[in-house]
Amino acid sequence: MSDAKVYKNFINGKWVKSVSGETFENRNPADTSEIVGVFQKSVADDVNAAVAAAAEAYKTWRLVPAPKRGEILYRIANRLLVQKEKISRDMTREMGKIIHETRGDTQEAIDMTYYMAGEGRRLFGQTTPSEMMNKFNMTLRQPLGVCGFITPWNFPIAIPSWKMMPALICGNTVVIKPATDTPLSVIHLAEVCEEEGLPPGVFNVVTGSGSAVGSPLINHKDVRVISFTGSTEVGRKVSEGCAPSFKHCCLEMGGKNVQIVMDDAKLELAVDGAIWGAFGTTGQRCTATSRVICHKDVVDKFTSMMIKRAENLKVGNGLDESVQMGPCVNQGQLDTVLSYIEVGKKDGARLVAGGKRLTGGAYDKGYFVQPTIFTGVTQQMRIWREEIFGPVLSVGTFDTFEKAIEMANDTSYGLSAAIYTQDVNKAYTAMRDVYTGIFYVNAPTIGAETHLPFGGTKETGNGHREAAMAALDVFSEWKSVYVDFSGALQRAQIDNA
Ligand code: NAD
Repeated sequence: MSDAKVYKNFINGKWVKSVSGETFENRNPADTSEIVGVFQKSVADDVNAAVAAAAEAYKTWRLVPAPKRGEILYRIANRLLVQKEKISRDMTREMGKIIHETRGDTQEAIDMTYYMAGEGRRLFGQTTPSEMMNKFNMTLRQPLGVCGFITPWNFPIAIPSWKMMPALICGNTVVIKPATDTPLSVIHLAEVCEEEGLPPGVFNVVTGSGSAVGSPLINHKDVRVISFTGSTEVGRKVSEGCAPSFKHCCLEMGGKNVQIVMDDAKLELAVDGAIWGAFGTTGQRCTATSRVICHKDVVDKFTSMMIKRAENLKVGNGLDESVQMGPCVNQGQLDTVLSYIEVGKKDGARLVAGGKRLTGGAYDKGYFVQPTIFTGVTQQMRIWREEIFGPVLSVGTFDTFEKAIEMANDTSYGLSAAIYTQDVNKAYTAMRDVYTGIFYVNAPTIGAETHLPFGGTKETGNGHREAAMAALDVFSEWKSVYVDFSGALQRAQIDNA
């Protein structure tokens, strides 16, 4: 065994080993000779202990006044800000994305924490007249209890914070199972919570696999909400797991996001957007631009500009400030990307940039692949239809605006879309007619801000939204309260003579 640091689970305010006595290693995808850390290979009994702690903590946490809960969140945000560089550097080591982006990931957690800290003084309900005399009606938000989170590796601290901060401000307690590729960022989040005095049991971390930790969390009778972000395939299983007990279930899943480039688009800007959208985070964003549909009159110019830019992207270890694209997160993801490149070629798309694993020197130690572009991609091809989750961009063409809209919507997913045009009418029409949860005009498909709802339609989600005030609806239930101060029985909908 190596001398790498061993990290423990965080249960009831204490750092504890898994009852399994087993651990797993996490390696740097840019340099697999580096072990980032050793983590607990947890099992159902660890989940049970964490849920029990969270259930006990809920009894008091739900009664802490929301503004006081907000004060703790505010301190956590301040501490995250102080720790931003350390957390971000460790995040680059554990999942590979470049340091500029991991700083953004950490900043998103900071923003979300401040935002929800402020919600502690709002959490507004409504007051409304009664249909009867001397009666007062209102609504208020009540917490649900223990929330279970299952998170992916591509936004290692942002996504956990999107779930955690609204859950906590509403008065719930939390057990989180982070992705096995990126547990360290969530461990750092727990360290900050501990330092800032979040009461024991309010936030618990159990590391390990989906089957050994995720499943018991989903099936636990004392967990009231499961919030999951990950693939549509696993999301479907999560949904089925929650159904028998009617557990609330919030799913954020895959995407096949599109950028439309009209013939009047500012092409430089459209290219900037597509390069950032397709190759930022090595294409491993749920909102990544994986399809560009380009008007036939500008597709050649757009493509040649794209090729030049893609070929000049500096790929490497994300801790080097000059690097523009990091590695794939692991061997499996690299294999998936390479196999889709073969599928694209076989299906008849034209490979015009990249297409190969990067090798030689430092590249041999990591999971690096070239930024890749296919043109001539048609709607039947698998690279058009399936989520690849890597730096592979498919370019298709259209001749009419109506066709562009039809092509944009021709996907089973519905997360993010963008249009580049100078025509305000077309921009508004596309905004209305493209069926996604997020839409951009003259900006790439990535770049969500924390105070707007985040999520998607169709097979991307199950109707919930994260972030913004929408997140409060996942982590609270409405209670309608009627106060009758008439001193007499008044019956709703009955003629009270
Ligand atoms: P994944 O579905 O493989 O894993 C997500 C999480 O689920 C991990 O923690 C994993 O350990 C766990 N898990 C796996 N099998 C499980 C099971 N049977 N029971 C319970 N838990 C289980 O996804 P990933 O590879 O980590 O992330 C990539 C995917 O996430 C992509 O599809 C991407 O689009 C999606 N994603 C979506 C959003 C969004 O907000 N819509 C955001 C980021 C990522």
